[in-house]
Amino acid sequence: MKKMKKILMTTFIGLFVVLFLMGITSCNDLFAVTNSIISQSEESTNDFSNNHFHDWNEAVTQEAKCETEGILTYSCYCGMNYTVKIEKLGHLIEEYQGKEATCIEKGCAPYEECKRSGCQYTTYAEIEIDSNNHNWVNNICADCKKEKDGELQYSISAEGDYYNVTGIGSFAGEEVLILPIYEGKPVKKISYRAFKDCDKITSITIPNTIVEIGTEAFYSCDNLKRAIIGNNVTIIGDKAFYACGRLEELVVGSSVKDIGDEAFFSCQSLIEVELPDSLISIGKGAFKWCFALGSIKIGDSVQSIGEYAFASCKKLTDVIIGSSVQNIEAYAFLYCDNLKSVIFKNTRGWTVGAVNILEEDLKDFSKAANYLAEIYDDTTWVRK
Ligand SMILES: [Zn+2]
Ligand SMILES: [Zn+2]
Ligand SMILES: [Zn+2]
Repeated sequence: MKKMKKILMTTFIGLFVVLFLMGITSCNDLFAVTNSIISQSEESTNDFSNNHFHDWNEAVTQEAKCETEGILTYSCYCGMNYTVKIEKLGHLIEEYQGKEATCIEKGCAPYEECKRSGCQYTTYAEIEIDSNNHNWVNNICADCKKEKDGELQYSISAEGDYYNVTGIGSFAGEEVLILPIYEGKPVKKISYRAFKDCDKITSITIPNTIVEIGTEAFYSCDNLKRAIIGNNVTIIGDKAFYACGRLEELVVGSSVKDIGDEAFFSCQSLIEVELPDSLISIGKGAFKWCFALGSIKIGDSVQSIGEYAFASCKKLTDVIIGSSVQNIEAYAFLYCDNLKSVIFKNTRGWTVGAVNILEEDLKDFSKAANYLAEIYDDTTWVRK
């Protein structure tokens, strides 16, 4: 009898455990996904709460997108619910080839784009129209109808290791772009008179391979408005831009050491020019007759200013003389009638012939201007 009772008891407990486990199993969904559950309601307080198997109804409440997670919500009629994240989808990448920009059409670099609808992801980047990239067919561009400009003339150096630009060649355009590399070798110099009297050209761009601009290279290019000198040019030869009367925009490269005699003589449209810090000497008459030039700052590396360097620069009002200048030759500022202020960064030790210029006089900018352009304009200034 006692044994019977024990068996009954065991069965009863066993049954109870099984039922209990079944209750949990019905909510297994909930526990199995615990890791990704992002929210969960409080246990329902209504009557159903502790005596029914949840009946989970699954619904996507926020779609997953390429770069954002979605939300899946499980809810039971009892009012209890929980939500689970849906992994983000990642982009559906498709790759595209790049396209060169031409004279009439913009191009693009190789790029990728997401094909999933609604996604804006792309690495597309436009390349501006390249006005030099023509589609030549018998020397006429099939796209923009431009006629081919022809080629500048390049000649191999005596040593055979670089090229010089020696002339306009068959080039018939207006904007000269000197090639940095010609037939596999660098182009290093612009030869003597290479572009002398080339009246058609309006712009010249000198690449960074060029180290020297030869004598009279752009002599009297009547329509040259713009000259961009590369940053490796160290010498601008004598009369290099002599009488380029329309030259307005001049960028002197950052390595120029010598500006030759009369290099910019009578460049009458030049209103301003920034001289580089590399500059050491300014040749004779270098900016003579630059009637429009308003101010000039001579850097701290410049040691000598040649005679007539700025003579007859009638509009010149302001000059700064750098701290290393030791020599200002006679007539350098002759007929600079409007010179109002000259700042000598080094006021010490200046003599003009037998006259010692007083430091305090040079510290007075207008007196210094008067000395330089009037009183002692015909004598060489030397600093000891
Ligand atoms: Zn429920
Ligand atoms: Zn996408
Ligand atoms: Zn074209």
